[in-house]
Amino acid sequence: MYELKAVIIGAGMAGLSAGIALRQAGYEVEIYEKTSKLRPAGAGISLWSNGIKILNRLGLGKEVAAIGGQMNRMEYRSHKDEVLNHVNLMPLIEQVGQRPYPVSRTDLQQMMLDAFGEADVRMGMRCVEVKQDADSATAIFEDGSTATGDVVIGADGIHSVVRTYLAGEKIEPRYAGYVNWNGIVDASPDLAENDVWVIYVGEGKRASMMPIGGDRFYYFMGCPKPKGTKVEPKDIRAELYETFDGWAQPVQNLIAKLDPEEVNRLEISDIDPLSHLVKGRIALIGDSAHATTPTLGQGGCQAMEDAEVLCRYLLTTNLSVEDALKRYEAERKERVAQLVLKARKRTDTIYNKEPDLTQEWYKQLKDEQEKDVTDALAKIILGGPMH
Ligand SMILES: Cc1cc2nc3c(=O)[nH]c(=O)nc-3n(C[C@H](O)[C@H](O)[C@H](O)COP(=O)(O)OP(=O)(O)OC[C@H]3O[C@@H](n4cnc5c(N)ncnc54)[C@H](O)[C@@H]3O)c2cc1C
Repeated sequence: MYELKAVIIGAGMAGLSAGIALRQAGYEVEIYEKTSKLRPAGAGISLWSNGIKILNRLGLGKEVAAIGGQMNRMEYRSHKDEVLNHVNLMPLIEQVGQRPYPVSRTDLQQMMLDAFGEADVRMGMRCVEVKQDADSATAIFEDGSTATGDVVIGADGIHSVVRTYLAGEKIEPRYAGYVNWNGIVDASPDLAENDVWVIYVGEGKRASMMPIGGDRFYYFMGCPKPKGTKVEPKDIRAELYETFDGWAQPVQNLIAKLDPEEVNRLEISDIDPLSHLVKGRIALIGDSAHATTPTLGQGGCQAMEDAEVLCRYLLTTNLSVEDALKRYEAERKERVAQLVLKARKRTDTIYNKEPDLTQEWYKQLKDEQEKDVTDALAKIILGGPMH
């Protein structure tokens, strides 16, 4: 279909990638964002090859390569610094046809805003409701104003209001049972080699560093905690020393080097798979449709896959918007549901939900062959639209 108008709610990765794709398809696009200043949640993100392929298609290949880290290897180590396994990622890159890039979220967001046109994002516009009739769909904002298009796309994150309309009830996120600390530090050899993604595991916790552009590491650490714990920035270093007491020296070095004021301390949640991603002329993409725990590093990549598939059906079919959205749902529903559940299972294993399984996993890591690891990653990467 040609000459459509799309109204997008939310200017995160999902909304911006859909906005760029739909504009490139020749559509009129309006993006509405509730905040007055965009601030990415979290410091870094690993964009696996499936996400990068979408960015390549959007014409952002050079830009993402420029902000991405060279992640050539991954290495699991025990919390006492014993190497559990070591994986060369080059065979995976050759198998899937594209290198992954861990990036700073601020850099990624700026790259996407530049591509869409930052001034074109309508800021300070909180959507409170959506509605539709046979010919159009409309978003209603807190200030009483409205935006009408042929399609409304809910890219409004884990607490989505568009999802509430679609599901007919408010779906509360499910706490995954652990706290994640993340941030960015300058790379240095006393932390890790600068082309390796290193992951320390032990005691049902983990601490990890990934190379990102600008000779920096994106670090993230996790530990099971009851819901609702709060720690002031000034006390975060002490909290981390206590949590990772006795862990390998590079983890101690990381805690010493990080800036406590810049640490994001997040309680991680996901949502159960939805029975519908679309209703009539209204579609969900990104976390509003399938917020996931980050243990597979796929939430943002799936948001970009959503954008690509939704745009493709709108452009390449001509029965109706409703029909294109149904085709989007049919292609995406199972894939995103499976990834949410797979990530949830992996999260439970990492974070000691059943301690026997966690201990078993530590043993398995030692026996895992390089090919098992790269095949598992390739299966996820190639299981989507960019195979
Ligand atoms: C700790 C952590 C690590 C992660 N690591 C990875 C990783 O390595 N790789 C990966 O691919 N994914 C990762 N993810 C997942 C990834 O961050 C998300 O899947 C992705 O950011 C979702 O983008 P989104 O645009 O759907 O949602 P969001 O980024 O939440 O954006 C939603 C936007 O909508 C706006 N909004 C909300 N409500 C309204 C409203 N009512 N009206 C208007 N605007 C509204 C918000 O302000 C926000 O700007 C990670 C997530 C976490 C928490």
